[in-house]
Amino acid sequence: MHSYPDIKLLINGEWRDALSGKTIAVSDPATDEILGNIAHAEKADLDLALDAADKGFKVWRETSAYERSKIMRKAADLLRERKDTIAWLMTREQGKPLAQSAMEVMGAADTIDWFAEEARRTYGQVIPARATGVSQLAIKVPVGPVAAFTPWNFPINQIVRKLSAALAAGCSIIVKAPEETPASPAELIRAFVDAGVPAGVVNLVYGVPSEISEYLIPHPVIRKISFTGSTPIGKHLASLAGKHMKRATMELGGHAPVMIFDDANIDKAIEIMAMSKFRNAGQVCVAPTRFLVQEGVASQFLDGFVKAAEAVKVGNGLEDGITMGPLANERRIPAMEALIQDAVTHGAELKTGGKRIGNKGNFFEPTVLANVPTSAKIMNDEPFGPVAIVNTFKSFDDAISEANRLPFGLASFAFTGSVKTAHELGRQVEAGMLTINHNGLALPEVPFGGIKDSGYGTEGGSEAVGAYLETRFVSQMN
Ligand code: NAD
Repeated sequence: MHSYPDIKLLINGEWRDALSGKTIAVSDPATDEILGNIAHAEKADLDLALDAADKGFKVWRETSAYERSKIMRKAADLLRERKDTIAWLMTREQGKPLAQSAMEVMGAADTIDWFAEEARRTYGQVIPARATGVSQLAIKVPVGPVAAFTPWNFPINQIVRKLSAALAAGCSIIVKAPEETPASPAELIRAFVDAGVPAGVVNLVYGVPSEISEYLIPHPVIRKISFTGSTPIGKHLASLAGKHMKRATMELGGHAPVMIFDDANIDKAIEIMAMSKFRNAGQVCVAPTRFLVQEGVASQFLDGFVKAAEAVKVGNGLEDGITMGPLANERRIPAMEALIQDAVTHGAELKTGGKRIGNKGNFFEPTVLANVPTSAKIMNDEPFGPVAIVNTFKSFDDAISEANRLPFGLASFAFTGSVKTAHELGRQVEAGMLTINHNGLALPEVPFGGIKDSGYGTEGGSEAVGAYLETRFVSQMN
């Protein structure tokens, strides 16, 4: 039998209440029930966490990559063993269907394993010298204690990329986990503690996000920050990082275009994209948003996609057969309603959905809007919910120009039967990630990140550990 715990801070290897004793309540987005309370960190707690991270860094950077890798792989195994309990906690606090929560836990274990291997490959270079007797070395060293800020949509996945890359590199970390969905990330951190990560290497805090970021980022102990969240907050934190000369990785908002060409397999496009659109109730930075469909297949795609949206089973994620849970927090409901109302006012056609379901929990209908003019807010702002926009285009150039119209450049998708079209898309779409004829994003071994207003840095692939390393040059004469 599962139960939802009260959640503490982790500072210097100790699970503890906030010094002030203050807490924040956590609610269930499916039932509105209060699930428990989390410890609310303030400056005095953050000072303890900074001190712990500073000391933890000195221990962890001296721990061999081989040893770090072993501890990390043990944490991954513990996570797998605890999958059912952690998935239950995630569904209660975040709302997503249990199967999606379980996948997130297993995906996190996979990510830890991958970064654990990368830990052993942080190679430097030996550079041929001009003079005999000189050795020129470019060595990689961990950048220092990290502050990571993560959101509520993937409570574990958003942390595990930052945490695993930092630990692989030899950095210590303070994680500011999401207050809305705190228990599953605490279990992720617990797996590392139980696997033997030394005290102070990993620290976990919750509180008021702006208070914590504004205290940690300028603090001299912190050498690197990593943030996932909206573009406006990302720009604010990036400017703070710049002001204090801190390295930063920014994984921000998107507004992914999906280009569907006349020569595509339309049934396949509908099936794959409906699953991608409504997964996690559309609260995904790489969710497909603007469906741009070539005129010859537009009505076939729209009819099929509306049917697929209507087939989504919305309900409490703990129940069997549910494919979409509630929105993760109540404020997303007025946000959805306002965007849809604005689109309709601007002349869009509401093909299905558009409303809240019931008056308990944050359930919202899977929604499809068609022929939405670019003047509508939803064509410009990230909806971050279960709303798809289906518009048409005539030529390849029209599709590219609409795909690249926005300042965002995170994910993009395309469906085409033409190798030439696929090749040109790869060259011309301004996005950090493009996946053609399937959904192939977000594996640990491939790059994950955006360009333009969607941020900078990658949280996957062989460059990801590099974000937590600095290059030092040593020239030595015999
Ligand atoms: P929000 O902008 O208030 O918060 C987004 C996230 O940033 C939250 O996790 C929040 O705790 C954190 N945050 C906010 N202010 C912060 C600060 N000053 N310092 C550190 N962290 C801070 O919005 P919201 O209502 O929680 O979510 C809505 C919007 O956020 C969405 O429209 C979407 O654009 C964005 N978002 C993006 C992702 C993503 O995966 N990229 C995830 C969640 C939310």
